[in-house]
Amino acid sequence: MKLFKFLSFIKEKKELIADFEEYLLLSGFGISFSEEIIKVFKKKGEKGVREFLINSIKDASKELSRDDFSIYLFSGVNGSGKTTCIAKIGNMFKKEGEKVLFISGDTFRAGATEQLTIWGEKLNIDVFSGKKGADPASVVYDGVVYGRNRNFTKILVDTAGRLQNKKNLMKELEKIRRVIEKLSKVTESILVLDSTDGENLYSQVENFKEVSKVSSLFITKLDSTIKPGVIIPIYVKYKIPIAYLFTGEGVDDFSPFDPVEFVNSILNPYFSS
Ligand code: GDP
Repeated sequence: MKLFKFLSFIKEKKELIADFEEYLLLSGFGISFSEEIIKVFKKKGEKGVREFLINSIKDASKELSRDDFSIYLFSGVNGSGKTTCIAKIGNMFKKEGEKVLFISGDTFRAGATEQLTIWGEKLNIDVFSGKKGADPASVVYDGVVYGRNRNFTKILVDTAGRLQNKKNLMKELEKIRRVIEKLSKVTESILVLDSTDGENLYSQVENFKEVSKVSSLFITKLDSTIKPGVIIPIYVKYKIPIAYLFTGEGVDDFSPFDPVEFVNSILNPYFSS
């Protein structure tokens, strides 16, 4: 009888571990990071896992740097949410009393400038753009000069994100950075990552981090992803701090990144069900 009880306890424990591992994989942690978490789980249980995850990202949160005359350069693949992030952060600055300018550095994609212009009109924020097909770096250069001469204090620069033409895109981003630096400094280079992209985010970070000299990450679409976990191994691997999380299409749908809250939001649904 005693042996039977012991065996069924072992079986239950194994099932519990397999079940938790499945949850981790479904949540986007990936195979190798999930295995690390399971090791901790076996030794230290739920509390240990919480501590391990919080500890892994405890230094990840960062406040966006600010200069009196700040330039924020946004990069990321098309559809990641760059334009929407620019609108949200621009609106935040505006509410704080800053004089905000948007520059559309995506002169190729039909609709990119229009979309930024629509946001600008809605939020009453000026948008600087060039002719369709114009050299993006020269539009950005002119935009920064325009902003400087008219006493704007926060300039947010949208860029193209066509990864299918990777080499040219990267050259273009480098050039945009260089022309800004002729005039001022890039206060922050922000890479926008769509959390629903899962494992694809690794190659996105690899592609953008050097060329854009990424200093902060913005993570979008956390309201619609089932795989938020991927953000943790991404931070562990690249150590690029995370400034904000974005959770919807509304202009106020974002919040500063809080490591404890983030871990709880992933683990609580599992452990409290
Ligand atoms: P861009 O191509 O990188 O400039 O991306 P956009 O800003 O145009 O965003 C692409 C789509 O994602 C649009 O339909 C946005 O409304 C949507 N979007 C952006 N951020 C979020 C978010 O946090 N949550 C959700 N659910 N949708 C978002």
